[in-house]
Amino acid sequence: MSSTILKEADRVMTICNACRYCEGFCAVFPAMELRRTFSDEDLKYLANLCHNCRDCYYACQYAPPHTFALNVPRTMAELRLETYREYSWPHAMKSFFQNNGLLVALITALSVVTVSLLTLLFQGHDVVFGTHTGAGAFYRVIPYAAMVVPFMALAIFVLISLWKGFATQWRTVGGTPQELKHWPAHRQAIWDVLRLKYLDGGGYGCNYPDDRFSMIRRYLHHAVFYGFMLCLASTTVAFGYDHLLHRPAPYPFWSWPVLLGTLGGLALLAGTGGLLYLKRQMDRDPAAPETLDMDMVFTVLLFLTSLTGLLLLCLRATPLMGTLLIVHIGFVLGLFISMPYGKFVHGFYRYGALVKNAIEQARENN
Ligand code: SF4
Ligand code: SF4
Repeated sequence: MSSTILKEADRVMTICNACRYCEGFCAVFPAMELRRTFSDEDLKYLANLCHNCRDCYYACQYAPPHTFALNVPRTMAELRLETYREYSWPHAMKSFFQNNGLLVALITALSVVTVSLLTLLFQGHDVVFGTHTGAGAFYRVIPYAAMVVPFMALAIFVLISLWKGFATQWRTVGGTPQELKHWPAHRQAIWDVLRLKYLDGGGYGCNYPDDRFSMIRRYLHHAVFYGFMLCLASTTVAFGYDHLLHRPAPYPFWSWPVLLGTLGGLALLAGTGGLLYLKRQMDRDPAAPETLDMDMVFTVLLFLTSLTGLLLLCLRATPLMGTLLIVHIGFVLGLFISMPYGKFVHGFYRYGALVKNAIEQARENN
């Protein structure tokens, strides 16, 4: 890991620890105040605890143009990106976080092209552009084995990769296996995640997209988070319908998979669309330039995945179904492949930092 970033994070936290003006904004400052000096592990932990609300940047009397040039959100974002590289599994994939936006865009484009070519090659023009309705209609375009087997294999790899990354982070920040079984800390961390507590800036919201306090970023993140969870629930229920009840898709609108997927897709569309709009307006001074493309491409990918999913639902009884299914599956494939090596990982590492924070705070209060 670049010692320049760690040195800067150490300088920033040391000044903040003497000042402590921002202690009400988030969990980073109370966690910082438990320390007199900062090891590399402490700094990596604090970087992932930061939710990038930017409140401490606009509140800081030492921010540029002051000669101290303190920029906590940018420093934390740069260090976070370094931790994503360090924790990635297999470790050889760490270079994926270099030019991440471009790589994820290329992989997604390649996924869409590959699924299109393979389907046209094996199924033919008439099947892809024909009209298919009734149970099993999707499998007539992309056969069951071609749809399920690669995604199952990929899902297992993604889960192992995310778990390995999480375990490395836990070890790196000094967590023990016993502490990982601290259920009250998990309960607290889950509650913090469900509320996105640290996007509320101590009750005022984020300074996003500019120096005014606003809850909009928090609400849009809620839409993305719950939209994603609803889509995951929809896929899980559909998997159960198909494999346990032997009822293959497509399902009627008033069925659980479609209702959950529609609600989730709309929430994802609204959340990612709103975040993309805000990203274009945002003040770039508190942002780490290296992370901008990664954030943007991940948000665009989520947006396009939900958009093609909803279009597929609306147009599934028309000759456009085959094309939309291919494009949607291509986007989902791109999303799956890049999951352990892109912006998606931030949720896991932030969760790890929140668990550690809950353990520390519980100890402090006893
Ligand atoms: S960011 Fe600035 S104002 Fe806030 S605690 Fe640090 S030094 Fe103080
Ligand atoms: S950007 Fe927000 S979450 Fe991060 S350290 Fe500053 S106040 Fe805390």
